[in-house]
Amino acid sequence: MRLLLSIPLVAFSFLFSKETSALSPSGDPWLLTPGPLTTSLTVKEAMLHDYGSRDPTFIKLNQEILEDLLDIVSGKETHVAVPLQGSGTFVVEAMLRTLIPRDGKVLLLVNGVYGKRMKDICSVIPRAFTMLEFPENQPVSVEAVQDILSKDSSLTHVAVVYCETTTGILNPLAPIAKVVAQAGRKLLIDAMSAFGALPLDSQEIPFDAVCASSNKCLQGVPGVGFCIARRNSLEETKGNAGSLSLDLFAQWKEMERSGQWRFTPPTHVLLAFHQALKELKQEGGVMARGRRYTENCQRLRAGMLSLGFQPLLPEELQAPIILTFLMPKDPHFNFPSFYQQLKSKGFIIYPGKLTHVDTFRIGCIGDIGPKEVEEALDTIRTILKANPE
Ligand SMILES: *Cc1c(COP(=O)(O)O)cnc(C)c1O
Repeated sequence: MRLLLSIPLVAFSFLFSKETSALSPSGDPWLLTPGPLTTSLTVKEAMLHDYGSRDPTFIKLNQEILEDLLDIVSGKETHVAVPLQGSGTFVVEAMLRTLIPRDGKVLLLVNGVYGKRMKDICSVIPRAFTMLEFPENQPVSVEAVQDILSKDSSLTHVAVVYCETTTGILNPLAPIAKVVAQAGRKLLIDAMSAFGALPLDSQEIPFDAVCASSNKCLQGVPGVGFCIARRNSLEETKGNAGSLSLDLFAQWKEMERSGQWRFTPPTHVLLAFHQALKELKQEGGVMARGRRYTENCQRLRAGMLSLGFQPLLPEELQAPIILTFLMPKDPHFNFPSFYQQLKSKGFIIYPGKLTHVDTFRIGCIGDIGPKEVEEALDTIRTILKANPE
């Protein structure tokens, strides 16, 4: 079955390969982006089926997905996993709405776009918040968190982004979790671009809820997010959400009762997600995936440095997820043209998102390894040579 499906896909890709030198097995450019990213052919093939959303086969598939997710954080005894349709932001909003009671107040730790997005969400819901903001090239300060928690007794929750995808900076999650727990507050984590590649063991890093999506380090396709919440805490959240569809308590209760989603699930996305989680296990789990990404990241960083590009972050602050480079000052370097040439040769990179500095980004995640990274670097070298400064 697999062979039959792959042959036409690969054969088909040659039709498009005239102007492109490197292509993924499905004939598409490699996505060097933080997600959606390049998925394996087998993950894409898993979607070639139609499942009934209330059929036992589909219900079982969902249970397996949720069990795998809990396994990743060693949370079977203490936590529950709740899925939600939509992109990552939907589940971040659902987490903040559901887990923070209406009279709660959250400390938002912000050093990039996704921290600011939590502020936007809290402003809309609304929930009371205090923001502790840091420059985009600096990690959250654990001392500052400890200090503000000791001074403001009205703070009930703390929310943090594990890897801030804006720059690729790694926030010190374990020490943050420790001071939050010591201060008797509850921790909510946006681990969107870290889950599945960076360590997140619920027995070592105490958290009330963490959320992520299918289409980043878990290497599925976009369309579904999930929240892993401490069972005891989620039990207390009935009626918090103030939204029908973004209510994780209601979604959880219905899943427990019937095994079914309340509203039409993205069945094909879930088939792909199920396969992607199988492939994570085959690869050797979170540690093994983290190692592959780290190698991708180190090669890319060293290669780009040797080509004269300047990474934004020092190596010790860099998560192995996405690299940010300063836009070269050379007037001959034209980013739109660089982007187009790279795309026509089979690699899609990512524009920058910083507020103060002009940058671009290259992702290290997805179904890519040393071979693709070296090919990308060779291609960049060739483009730079063809457009001499
Ligand atoms: C990708 C991402 C999100 C969610 O973004 P969507 O565009 O809604 O998928 C949230 N937080 C972080 C840190 C992310 O990397």
